[in-house]
Amino acid sequence: MTDLPQRATSSRLDPYADRYAARTAGMTVSEVRALFAVAARPEVVSLAGGMPNISSLPLDVVGDSIKDLVLSQGPTALQYGGGQGDPVLREQICEVMRLEGIEAHPDDVVVTVGSQQAVDLVTRVFCDPGDVVICEAPSYVGALGVFKGYQCDVVHAEVDSEGLIPHALEQAIVSTKASGRKVKFLYTIPNFQNPTGVTMTAERRTQILEICRRHDILVLEDNPYGLLGFDDEPRPAMRAQDPGVIYLGSFSKTFSPGLRVGWALAPSAIREKLVLAQESATLCPPPFNQMAVSAYLSNHDWQGQIKEMREMYRERRDAMLDALEDYMPAACTWTKPDGGFFVWLTLPAGIDCKAMLPRAVTARVAYVPGTGFFADGFGASSMRISYCYPTPERIREGVRRLAGVIEAEMEL
Ligand code: PMP
Repeated sequence: MTDLPQRATSSRLDPYADRYAARTAGMTVSEVRALFAVAARPEVVSLAGGMPNISSLPLDVVGDSIKDLVLSQGPTALQYGGGQGDPVLREQICEVMRLEGIEAHPDDVVVTVGSQQAVDLVTRVFCDPGDVVICEAPSYVGALGVFKGYQCDVVHAEVDSEGLIPHALEQAIVSTKASGRKVKFLYTIPNFQNPTGVTMTAERRTQILEICRRHDILVLEDNPYGLLGFDDEPRPAMRAQDPGVIYLGSFSKTFSPGLRVGWALAPSAIREKLVLAQESATLCPPPFNQMAVSAYLSNHDWQGQIKEMREMYRERRDAMLDALEDYMPAACTWTKPDGGFFVWLTLPAGIDCKAMLPRAVTARVAYVPGTGFFADGFGASSMRISYCYPTPERIREGVRRLAGVIEAEMEL
């Protein structure tokens, strides 16, 4: 087991510091959060946020179905519900997952408060302090926060343009085992990964599953962006190939993040533990929100709505890639996502994107520095830029401003 974080001693700033649990040492404030408040000003083009653009949602349809929900099913929707989640919604979730080739039974689905809570519950169920979770390098900052919060050690394995690299995974597993630590699971985002936008190829998916099977390692497949690909057909999920995979889904990107409805699909023994963990965390996921999602799926052409969203995001992706091509210095490289929200931009080694951020904000553009997506301090010369929220014109202007800041930085 590795050294666990030390408990802080009390100070005049925080008189309670010596009473907190050791795990709070892993709960750190984002160093760039303060700047994001500045970046939210209207004159700044924010390429930082990952907020879904829900402007095309039919608010009249949503409003009518919520009113109808209260009037016709209020006593159920406004009451406590089961810890596993609404049975009707769990059936609908199975239909959603069928689009990615998953055949699942509603009994094996647990509804969660966003897929963020699903990451938390899986970690709570599997990880003791010092256990290892293998994550892509880079990986989703919100999941890294959960793993740190449970005092796990994150071991990274590299990603390239085809997704997680099989021999990097194998190496991470072997070296972790050699150090006497337990690998509890691999956390992967195979589709339009946050933060790189990269998608794992079909061949890699099979290889990664084979490696995990051979080493007896669970796979946690986090897939909030799977239906937001710019190709016609969603790619088959890893869970479609292997029923031992724990799969996480969400309605945040395809409907509403404000309702906080996501889910986990897991082998039944694990699912039972997840339900117990869910009951102790929240008693039950919110029935009202679940039934609102369920009504939306029943009353609206949700697949048509997702198609519209994909077209909007594709146009924004195109605007970003065109602007990068037109404005970025030749020494910069970037990923070319075919779905989701994000591009990963890498600058020449030696440029520190975190140190550069205040200068970018002064130039009225914001991004997320790369280091937040690594548990080990890497990523200094990279950044995540997202195209989901600003208009194509603003994206182009934002990239133009960013290129100017980078050029000036390269001359320093
Ligand atoms: N996983 C990934 C990869 C994400 O990008 C996000 C949202 N940014 C989440 C999980 C959490 O999403 P939610 O809780 O809204 O479902």
